[in-house]
Amino acid sequence: MKVICTKCGGMHVACKAMINPNDKSFRNYTDEAFIYGWCEDCGYGVVLSDVDEVKADIDRRYADYCAEHGSEPLYAQCEIVWKDESFTEPQPVTIKLSVDADDATDKKIFFYCNGIADLKSLADFEGEDFVLTDCISLTTELK
Ligand SMILES: [Zn+2]
Repeated sequence: MKVICTKCGGMHVACKAMINPNDKSFRNYTDEAFIYGWCEDCGYGVVLSDVDEVKADIDRRYADYCAEHGSEPLYAQCEIVWKDESFTEPQPVTIKLSVDADDATDKKIFFYCNGIADLKSLADFEGEDFVLTDCISLTTELK
């Protein structure tokens, strides 16, 4: 597990979890634990992302998709967070899993990446101006 602050990429973060109050032992995370948390470095509430879990989820969805359809998906529907909070984006966004630009669909594409490995790298803080926090689905059709 590697949970990061989506604003600074740091790991000095805190999130909601259930503990046994008697011996303070950890039980589990609450459902919203990684949606909103506290970053000690930023000093305010931020969106947290479990990078390893996001990547593992993409691997699972990709394997499931290929097994079910016998072909590779072309697009990914994803949730992203801008590092700079002054930007917002209607969610989910569509990320194309190839770098072939096509004028007919260009307006609907938020970002082009070079396949599944590249998509997974978007979950890392380093790289782009946004962080991929959740892959909702893989598809061959643009919605
Ligand atoms: Zn931070």
